[in-house]
Amino acid sequence: MVLAAPQSAGPDAPPLTERMEGVVAIIGAGPAGLAAAEVLLEAGTPVRIFEGMPTPARKFLMAGRGGLNITHSEPLEQFLGRYGSARRRLEEAIADFPPERLQAWCADLGQETFVGTSGRVFPKAMKSSPLLRAWLSRLLAMGAQLSSRHLWKGWSEDGSLIFMTRDGERRFKPSATVFALGGASWPRLGADGSWSESFARKGATITPFEPTNCGVRVGWSEPFSLRFAGQAVKSTRFSIGETSVRGEAIVTAEGLEGGAIYSLSSHIRKLLKQTDGVTMILDLAPDLTADRLADRLWRSDQRSQPQSLPGSRKSRPSLANRLRRAGLNDTAVGLFRELSRAQPQSLSPSDLADCIKRLPVRIVSMAPIDRAISTAGGIAWTSIRNNYSLNCDPGVFVCGEMIDWEAPTGGYLLQACIATGRAAGRGAATFVRSRSFADA
Ligand SMILES: Cc1cc2nc3c(=O)[nH]c(=O)nc-3n(C[C@H](O)[C@H](O)[C@H](O)COP(=O)(O)OP(=O)(O)OC[C@H]3O[C@@H](n4cnc5c(N)ncnc54)[C@H](O)[C@@H]3O)c2cc1C
Repeated sequence: MVLAAPQSAGPDAPPLTERMEGVVAIIGAGPAGLAAAEVLLEAGTPVRIFEGMPTPARKFLMAGRGGLNITHSEPLEQFLGRYGSARRRLEEAIADFPPERLQAWCADLGQETFVGTSGRVFPKAMKSSPLLRAWLSRLLAMGAQLSSRHLWKGWSEDGSLIFMTRDGERRFKPSATVFALGGASWPRLGADGSWSESFARKGATITPFEPTNCGVRVGWSEPFSLRFAGQAVKSTRFSIGETSVRGEAIVTAEGLEGGAIYSLSSHIRKLLKQTDGVTMILDLAPDLTADRLADRLWRSDQRSQPQSLPGSRKSRPSLANRLRRAGLNDTAVGLFRELSRAQPQSLSPSDLADCIKRLPVRIVSMAPIDRAISTAGGIAWTSIRNNYSLNCDPGVFVCGEMIDWEAPTGGYLLQACIATGRAAGRGAATFVRSRSFADA
């Protein structure tokens, strides 16, 4: 590498620029950036990876905390359908590195995978750390250079990359750059979306970030929030209009989160743009029809009244007891009491059954982006060529969550990040090769 000194290096002169002829800079050491590095190294192109955080891939490590769902086993056609309108642009990259290749790649790194009952694919170790360790070792053995604590701040006037480091500002001028800076959720893990201004100035169109696969805000009463935050609402059907999902949600201090809510979150977000609030209907007893549930409630009401003296006023058991006998757990009972507006104790069995099966929750907003699993928004596809370079700069490539696409949880996020990383790496390798031929 060559250090190019500015003409007159006075005290106010910009720092020296390190020229990286023939080298591709990769900025962001998450799964997309590491995938790009691997393809470039396989093509014989030297790479230097820059990462703003002290260690790489913090979000990837976080993803492994609850079981790393790396991809999904459903047929490719169905799989591609999960990307909605972005499918057209993602299809080529994913078809080139489809779920079964991703599984074989994991196995090659010593991490066999298995298919869970829902069709989701996990490494047998469940965690990200063994896979990441093996991946980084392989990249370093192939010659990758990793510079952590290098926070990219933008481009200089001469197109150099500007970084803030512990030793102050540093500048680099590679032959091409692959950006893999992630979206804007969980900013404390490194990706905060602050890159978008520099890209907009460069001429790329940026779609504003929005949270996806995230919780919702409901606005609980304080007693409910204090008592139930962190508890699971199990085996419930959550419906918004005709769209419904059966699963589990977790009560948070301000609302609900968890798998079932995440899968409705994109739909809810779009509705919230049109109206002030969205009503979600909870069916707390999805295995029973309203008639069967009413029958169960009636029988249980009868069983609890045997001691009533002839002529005395029959009293029903407490609401909590009636609900528990209908099969609701404590959290569901608490939720029912929080949400039902009628005087439920006086309800007949059939009216109570209807309330249990149609409990309305008013969603006031999405949970904040910093708690979302992923984000929609980022660099618009209209600014990106098929080889993942920018229309406004053929030497700048982008990949992963910083591009404007979204998908549900289920392994679709990591699959697309890794596949687009590989596609951008391929694009950059071809670009650098064609430039060196042109220079020769
Ligand atoms: C709690 C949680 C659980 C998840 N679970 C799953 C799951 O099971 N399955 C799944 O498919 N997906 C899951 N995801 C989503 C998945 O982790 C992300 O979609 C994926 O990590 C995005 O990859 P990326 O490489 O595009 O970006 P990131 O992983 O965000 O990596 C971007 C990198 O760029 C660095 N960076 C950012 N800005 C700069 C800068 N200016 N200068 C230098 N470096 C910078 C960051 O520090 C980071 O290392 C989960 C996410 C979360 C938060």
